[in-house]
Amino acid sequence: MPTISDLRSSYQSGDLTPAEAIRSLAENIDSRDKEIGAYLSYDLDAALAEAAEVDLSLPLGGVPIAIKDAINVKGQPCTCGSKLLDQNYTSPYDAGVISKLRAAGAIPFGRTNMDEFAMGSSTENSALQVTRNPWDTSRIPGGSSGGSAAVIAADEAVAALGSDTGGSIRQPAALSGCVGLKPTYGRVSRYGLVAFASSLDQIGPMTRTVEDAALVLQAIAGHDAHDSTCVKDALPDYSSFVGQDIKGLKVGLPKEYFAEGLDAEVKEVVDAAIKQLESLGAEPVEISLPHTEYAVATYYIIATAEASTNLARFDAVRYGRRAESADNLLDQYRQSRAQGFGEEVKRRIILGTYVLSSGYYDAYYLQAQKVRHLIRKDFTEAFEKVDVIASPVSPTPAFKIGEKSQDPMAMYLADVYTLSTNLAGICGMSVPCGFTQGEDGKKLPVGLQLLGKPFAEGDLLKVGHAYEKACDWQKVV
Ligand code: GLN
Repeated sequence: MPTISDLRSSYQSGDLTPAEAIRSLAENIDSRDKEIGAYLSYDLDAALAEAAEVDLSLPLGGVPIAIKDAINVKGQPCTCGSKLLDQNYTSPYDAGVISKLRAAGAIPFGRTNMDEFAMGSSTENSALQVTRNPWDTSRIPGGSSGGSAAVIAADEAVAALGSDTGGSIRQPAALSGCVGLKPTYGRVSRYGLVAFASSLDQIGPMTRTVEDAALVLQAIAGHDAHDSTCVKDALPDYSSFVGQDIKGLKVGLPKEYFAEGLDAEVKEVVDAAIKQLESLGAEPVEISLPHTEYAVATYYIIATAEASTNLARFDAVRYGRRAESADNLLDQYRQSRAQGFGEEVKRRIILGTYVLSSGYYDAYYLQAQKVRHLIRKDFTEAFEKVDVIASPVSPTPAFKIGEKSQDPMAMYLADVYTLSTNLAGICGMSVPCGFTQGEDGKKLPVGLQLLGKPFAEGDLLKVGHAYEKACDWQKVV
């Protein structure tokens, strides 16, 4: 499957038209997705109608992009992987990122599976279907944007959008072997993204190469009057960072991210990637992010508190699946929510309601906000010494389907290296950096995480591309 850049050159030379590219994608989906289960739906006619009108001179002219099923695209379903929304809801409007993608000439094509309301790390919490890792179909693709990662790995998409509240772009990108970038909070509009935790959520690109991530980021970033947290600053030219050298760049290695709990093979692969950065002229510097040990607890208080508030809107009156047998309004809310939400979503609503309730607010929510401040300060201080931070994305490679689904705590711990990025509001990216042996000759991808200063996505693209060019993992991937 081509990259965005390949596709653009084939369009320009006249070797391929957008309609042909979309039809060939649909063929790949029809032959491969029965096994992978990454798409929830796609509308070929709508995409072909858009392809017929598209202006090929635009930066993403005619490029089909798969969309996580939490991002509204006018006229299409938006289930969020939930039984609550898989009926009686069609998006009445385009999300901010979709309007921007269309303005850049891209064609939203296909809705990708996800953990219900983006709560999870394996896509197993989808109430609608199982998604398998294309590298080893007995394993999870990562989550919550597991569908968006799997479609790239399975050659069922050129690029995709995901959303990341605590790692949901970077972790599936790492486990399925693609590039995933979580922009700085405020860089990309959240308008039309079904909210999970509003102070943490960001939409970002999932692509085959770093160069492609720069192209998609350029298209989706920037101010949107519908999201007051989206900043107004002028955007840099992200592609200009691709190809810059990294000589003398200081790369921080947080000692807490290379400690106990990290799989030995993953460590070996990530260490080798860091050596590679060194051989490109970067200077590794050991740093400390001392509040890392509190990140999981802090995240699961703040994210659940915000989720309990955000998910209150699903009352089955305005939209979604409605319980049939209720006698009165209150009963209708109760029954619809009890039937519509899955177990993990209920667990989070209960936790979130608890930590916000009177008497517990000060002990949990307020305390977590204070620790969040300390976590942010750790990064501010680290970035006084280094330009970027490098680490693993996930402590293990892709695990088996069912391995952790009955153990929420084990699942939460899988996010230990990604959650702090969102709590601090900074940017992060996962770049493929090699493989572990896996089983039965099915090797498993590993991701290198790069973290940058607020609004310094350009630095991530610069380092990520220099690394990618030197190693060429994307050719293997
Ligand atoms: N895995 C984390 C969670 O379950 C992060 C999810 C996300 O980033 N959407 O909350």
